[in-house]
Order: sequence, then C-alpha cells, then structure tokens
Amino acid sequence: MALAYATPGIVLGYRPLREADRLYSVLTPDRGKVELLARGSRKVTSKLAGSLEPLQLLAVEAVSGRQFDHVVGADRMEAHPAFAVDPSARVLALGLAGFLNAAVKPAEPDRRLFSVFRELLAAAGGEATVSERLLLRDAFLWKVSTILGFAADPARCAVCAGAPTMLSASAGGFQCAAHPAPPDAVRLSPQALSYLRAAHDLPLVSAVRLPLAVEDAKTVHRAVGLYVLYQFSGTVDPAILLRLFGDVGLAAAAVRS
Ligand SMILES: [Zn+2]
Repeated sequence: MALAYATPGIVLGYRPLREADRLYSVLTPDRGKVELLARGSRKVTSKLAGSLEPLQLLAVEAVSGRQFDHVVGADRMEAHPAFAVDPSARVLALGLAGFLNAAVKPAEPDRRLFSVFRELLAAAGGEATVSERLLLRDAFLWKVSTILGFAADPARCAVCAGAPTMLSASAGGFQCAAHPAPPDAVRLSPQALSYLRAAHDLPLVSAVRLPLAVEDAKTVHRAVGLYVLYQFSGTVDPAILLRLFGDVGLAAAAVRS
C-alpha cells in the first residue's frame, strides 16, 4: 500500500524520465537527498513542474512507490527575491545546488547539510554584493567538505601540528613553513587563515561578516577552490567545479596539475 508523507525539501536539480516525467533530486532534513518522480512534469501545462522550482524551500507531499516515490504536491515556504532578478546570484546558487546534487549520496540523512544549504540560500538570495556572495560560496563549500568528511583542520599543520601557513590538498590539508610547499599549496596570510578557521567553526552568516581585505579574499577563493577541486574531482563533474570557481582561474590550474 502506498504510504503518504510530507517533508520540507529543496530541489537540487532534475532529469527527464520517460516521455512525460521528470526525476527530481530533493534535499530534505530527515531523509537526506531523495529522488522523487513527478508525473507529467515535462509537459508545459504541468502545475507540479512550476511548483518544483529549485533554490526555494518547499513543503513537499509524496507517496511511496515501487521504484521511486512520487511527488503529489509542492508548496513554496520560503523564496528569495535575488534569485528571480539577479542572474549572478542565481547562477552561483544553482552551481552550489549542482555541486550538492553530485557530492551528496542518496539516503544518507544529515540535518547539517540541509540547514547549511538553507542558510546559504537565505544569505546569497538576499541583499548581498558579488564579493560577499563569493565568500559565502567558500564558507559554504568549506562547511560541506567538513560534513562530508573531507575536512582540513585549520588549527594545526597536518604533518607536525605546528602553526599553518599554507593549504594544500595534495599534502592532506594545512601545512606549516617547515615543509617544502607542494605545487598546489596556497600561502595564507594570518587574516585569510582566521577566515578559514571562522568558516570552519561559525554559522555561515557570521563567518562571512568578518572583515577581509580584497587580496586576502582572493587567496581564500583560490585556496578553497583548489582544495574542493582536488577533494571532489572523483565524485563531482569537474565542469561543475570549474564553473563554480570561474573567478579564480582554476581551469588553468587543473590543466597544469
Ligand atoms: Zn608542520
């Protein structure tokens, strides 16, 4: 017998299925990432497809099915104005949704993932400058890396527990000045380091309020970009990663390594 349930959810993406249907990836707090079938959602007249917009918090109603659970209703609970009117905000948030869709395994619930993505959408979809959004992206990916088990501890050198001066994914995280710098090492100023510590420990919205000079922000973008590219290149399509970090010239870095 089909079992009906309701859950909060955020659409991460979808793909076509058969002639008229789509399969939606939805991030939920208690069920993790789930794939839900929406019947008829490829038809232009589908009301369901209109409700299943990404980047907003939805109240999703579903019924269990043999192969896939089916969406039977979706109501908007929380939408963010910038995503409708600001293409750069929308592209960034869709990029991060695509990243999560690829990086998160289905049916491994973690409430932290849901709440950090919800925080990200509220902060990036509100009033924010381009540079604030880029720092949000970094803080968000840094947190997600921690949740998914790819954390680097910004408090100590991964080799000798000394005070870190650089970040290198190939060296396993932060490193102090006592060791030779690997080719992918990014040297960090004390300000850039304290930003990465804050992003590790504080809620997303508090971390991005820390003052950071333009040069330090660029270093943070590059350090986080290279780290995430390295750690997730096995699970996330590199094209998604390169699009996400288009501002820091990672395409060139990826070609070199
Ligand atoms: Zn060391």
